[in-house]
Amino acid sequence: MSANIIDGKAFALGLRERIAAQVANFVAAAGRKPGLAVVLVGEDPASAVYVRSKGKATVAAGMASFEHRLPADVAQDELLALVDTLNADPAVDGILVQLPLPGHLDELAVTTRIDPDKDVDGFHPVNAGRLATGLEGFVPCTPLGCVMLLKDQLGDLTGLDAVVIGRSNIVGKPMAQLLLKESCTVTIAHSRTRDLSSVVKRADIVVAAVGRAEMVKGEWIKPGATVIDVGINRTATGLVGDVDFAGAASVAGAITPVPGGVGPMTIAVLLRNTLVSAGRREGVAIDE
Ligand code: NDP
Repeated sequence: MSANIIDGKAFALGLRERIAAQVANFVAAAGRKPGLAVVLVGEDPASAVYVRSKGKATVAAGMASFEHRLPADVAQDELLALVDTLNADPAVDGILVQLPLPGHLDELAVTTRIDPDKDVDGFHPVNAGRLATGLEGFVPCTPLGCVMLLKDQLGDLTGLDAVVIGRSNIVGKPMAQLLLKESCTVTIAHSRTRDLSSVVKRADIVVAAVGRAEMVKGEWIKPGATVIDVGINRTATGLVGDVDFAGAASVAGAITPVPGGVGPMTIAVLLRNTLVSAGRREGVAIDE
């Protein structure tokens, strides 16, 4: 058997087109563009690339992009003051502070300073709590993108056995919450899980968000399972995921490649969250 390769790049492109169409409707109704503010502290090259592509995608979708670059040695108070300004700015619907921050800055203090109703990254503890209790809020972009791919692939997820490997606040935990919301039977595995291969073997859905190159082996996968590989690992041979792609693709029913799977979904969902925020703030209906 050879798995269906889930084309996240094509799905993300389609999503971005649907968002752009809805942005045009929003502009007609509200008389302004949805706005996303991105804050970059310091010169980390990977972060600079992410911020640049987020800005380009925002503008391409017809939204306003506000980029704020601060020096690596910026004082915590100055960064918090910028967040306060963006919280109060009516043209800003979404605020994103690119992580990681330089070591002298308190990431939690910065994340929690963002107005939860402009927290389009979904990292604020208020939004984590809203997700856990079924209230309307913002869900972190990467796991929300994974669920979109899964529903596109499988339709109704009710009753499926799902294993999420990884329990970070930005991927693993929200991923598990979203699968629970879809009525999956959810197991969260992590570095202390015993006999990980047996845990993975019973899953209809495997989501790998570990950060270890090709750790999940083909033999661990139940025949026909759907495999979502969130991992991005740079190796001597190039970019690879957390799953041994060739091994898993020979057993799975469907699998996301790296690159071209989950990765492109993250920015598309960020645009979606920003549009949803703008719609909520202006009382304009958005087709979520
Ligand atoms: P973290 O490092 O925050 O979390 C990794 C998780 O994996 C932890 O919960 C850890 O367990 C678990 N883990 C580590 N080693 C093992 C092991 N041997 N067996 C089982 N579990 C293990 O990473 P993130 O969640 O931030 O990211 C995960 C991956 O996803 C990374 O490769 C990252 O680059 C990628 N990523 C991709 C994005 C995209 O847009 N495609 C966006 C965000 C992340 P424990 O808690 O016990 O330490």
